[in-house]
Amino acid sequence: MPGEAVPLRVYDTSSSEVVPSEPGPTAKLYVCGITPYDATHLGHAATYVTFDVLQRVWRDNGHTVHYVQNVTDVDDPLLERAERDGVDWRDLAVRETELFREDMTALAVLPPDEYVSVVDSVAEIATDVARLLESGHAYRLAVDEPTADGGADVYFDLSTEDRFGEVSGWSRAEMLAVYADRGGDPDRPGKRDPLDPLLWRAARPGEPSWDGGVLGPGRPGWHVECTTIALRSLGMTFDVQGGGTDLVFPHHEMSAVQAEGLTGEWPFARAYVHQAMVGLDGEKMSKSRGNLVLVSRLRADGRDPMALRLALLARSYRTEWAWTDDLLADAQARLDRWRDAVSRPTGPNATATVAAVRERLADDLDTPGALAAVDRWVAEQLDGGATGTPQRDATRDDTTRDDTALDATTPDDTTSDDKAPALLAAAVDALLGVRLTPAS
Ligand code: ZN
Repeated sequence: MPGEAVPLRVYDTSSSEVVPSEPGPTAKLYVCGITPYDATHLGHAATYVTFDVLQRVWRDNGHTVHYVQNVTDVDDPLLERAERDGVDWRDLAVRETELFREDMTALAVLPPDEYVSVVDSVAEIATDVARLLESGHAYRLAVDEPTADGGADVYFDLSTEDRFGEVSGWSRAEMLAVYADRGGDPDRPGKRDPLDPLLWRAARPGEPSWDGGVLGPGRPGWHVECTTIALRSLGMTFDVQGGGTDLVFPHHEMSAVQAEGLTGEWPFARAYVHQAMVGLDGEKMSKSRGNLVLVSRLRADGRDPMALRLALLARSYRTEWAWTDDLLADAQARLDRWRDAVSRPTGPNATATVAAVRERLADDLDTPGALAAVDRWVAEQLDGGATGTPQRDATRDDTTRDDTALDATTPDDTTSDDKAPALLAAAVDALLGVRLTPAS
């Protein structure tokens, strides 16, 4: 696609500022994947669409992208759901993983280069946990249950890591306030620090387990799965660790300090980028609350996945927002206008618009700003320059954005250009992942 690349800047949670993303020829991205026990909801979709846009910006800037995503295909919530529903946990994981990938394909999310299964990685994870024990970064804790058969759990010893807390920047009080709700076990007797994370869970009756070598039979803790998979796929100091804001602590904090324990190097990732939570009816959308809007349900209802993608892109990834049906109706109206505009044989020159889309996305993935730039070209094309747009003003709620750059998006050359509609459609497809024409 013609035009100048614009280097990406993104908000890094660990430094609390927008920083330049300066990957080498290969940009390395790790995004935490799903636990496949329930269908993809809009909170997930927002996360994977955000990192899809990030990947598209890197690609547009000439980088090869190495994108890795894990699949947490053995975990407590998955096992509990399988037990409740009377199905084999492996079958549940396979079924929900397939549905997730169908949803992502429908949303035009470019697939990761590697989907790495935790089940397939158990031997490597066990090796890493054994190394942490050997180097004094971890300790065994006997299981005080009659059926334990002498097995011991293994915990990471946070007192061995001065960097602990640097990813989230949270205080201990803040950490302790959420730890139990986010999979931690602060009340487990015998731990050296209530925050120490589980690395290896010794086998319990009725639970799946694997041969852990010197660890004995068991299964991995949650955070070390991503430590091992990211280190083995991408190596230390990859470019972006991504996920939802609910993963900042403990998941990304623990994954990072465990990696330092294994390698002696820092940082784990150059930038930690987090998608804000998506709400519904005044609460965070989550499985535990049961207030989910499912991508597969919207698809089954005949909603256009491209309208759904546009609805997600209409909100800044850093701002929490709540889903309403109106957002999808607005996005469908916008999509219809865009498709109408690019279906015409000629249109106003689109070069400045494409440049503006690039410039907005490079500025911390300002997707609302990028959509507004396309809206202006579409208004010029359909309405001869009228500024009316069917969108509600919700896309402009981030007052910290620099609006001056948008001035450049007013088409400066209204001469009819027979390449403009195709150029605009190709740019929207490549950079925003929104397909406007059957061929694009
Ligand atoms: Zn993870």
